[in-house]
Amino acid sequence: MFNIKGMVIASEPMWRHTTFAAGGPADLFAVPADGKDLRSLLAAARREEKDVFILGGGSNILVADSGIRGLVVDTRLFNEYRVESAGDKGSGTGRETGSGKPVLVIGAGLPVSDAAWMSGSSGLGGLDFLFGMPGTVGGALWMNARCYDEEISEKILWIEAMDRSGRISRITMNKKEWGYKHSPFQTRNGGELTILRAAFSMSPGEPSALKTGMREKRDNRESKGHYKAPCAGSAFKNNRAFGAPSGVLIEKCGLKGLRIGGASVAPWHANIIINEGSAKAADIRRLLDEVAGKVAESTGFHMEPEVLPVGDW
Ligand SMILES: Cc1cc2nc3c(=O)[nH]c(=O)nc-3n(C[C@H](O)[C@H](O)[C@H](O)COP(=O)(O)OP(=O)(O)OC[C@H]3O[C@@H](n4cnc5c(N)ncnc54)[C@H](O)[C@@H]3O)c2cc1C
Repeated sequence: MFNIKGMVIASEPMWRHTTFAAGGPADLFAVPADGKDLRSLLAAARREEKDVFILGGGSNILVADSGIRGLVVDTRLFNEYRVESAGDKGSGTGRETGSGKPVLVIGAGLPVSDAAWMSGSSGLGGLDFLFGMPGTVGGALWMNARCYDEEISEKILWIEAMDRSGRISRITMNKKEWGYKHSPFQTRNGGELTILRAAFSMSPGEPSALKTGMREKRDNRESKGHYKAPCAGSAFKNNRAFGAPSGVLIEKCGLKGLRIGGASVAPWHANIIINEGSAKAADIRRLLDEVAGKVAESTGFHMEPEVLPVGDW
């Protein structure tokens, strides 16, 4: 069915590819080596009428225990990293902004924290706020990742993406299409675009100051218990209308430490749901429902999960 340079495996357990460390097998799991491979995979999936799921770092998804039917495409090999100087007009990448700022072009599969460190430690500021955040550049773009009062969409010049027929298009930044945890990729082309690479407008900075700032952010995450147990970061989105962060509502409802099977509300952070080691994806999903239900019952606020359920639920 597939003739590619990269890899295709049958029945690959998805718990290996998600930060929740839960979830059953993908029928087919492919790691394309390049755009040509990706195009072949998408064409084969179309011919065979198989669903396709595009995987970044698996840090914002909850895969069903019964797994994912169809094809999962792991983007990890789309990991290019290229700095274009302010005077470089050759490839037409970003100079159209006329800002004179350095442009960083990065592949969607590069871990976003690596991109932050590589650029920051070489004196390019702009993505440093993302240091320490799990996931890939593609996943961060799809989710419009945000932290420390900054959003990835603020730095984008353009994004290249492939549609399911293999056609690549360049999408230029239009602020109106981006919002809190929202990117155009969630809806455009029926949510079926695969992000390949993106260009970011960077600001020259002092490498040692950028590195210090990044280490502080990572230490801050560590102190909040982000890396203590398998999780997917914030379980629920925040909403200004609630008048308080979702974590505060959950805590006020006395739900810290609440447990279902092997899943629990982290005792150290009410908006993080953790896998204590043996959680089924179903335990995590039931706990998400239980927490949202209890908060709605006592406050009237309906929290929206940030974690995306994926696969055969
Ligand atoms: C400890 C921890 C801390 C976190 N802190 C934060 C935080 O501070 N701020 C924040 O915003 N999030 C945070 N998160 C959540 C998560 O890391 C981000 O949402 C991240 O951007 C998801 O990226 P990913 O590559 O893991 O995406 P995945 O979980 O693999 O996928 C998420 C979605 O993006 C789509 N996708 C991924 N790559 C592509 C691509 N190349 N093309 C098209 N679609 C694609 C997937 O299909 C899926 O729909 C945290 C998670 C953890 C575990």
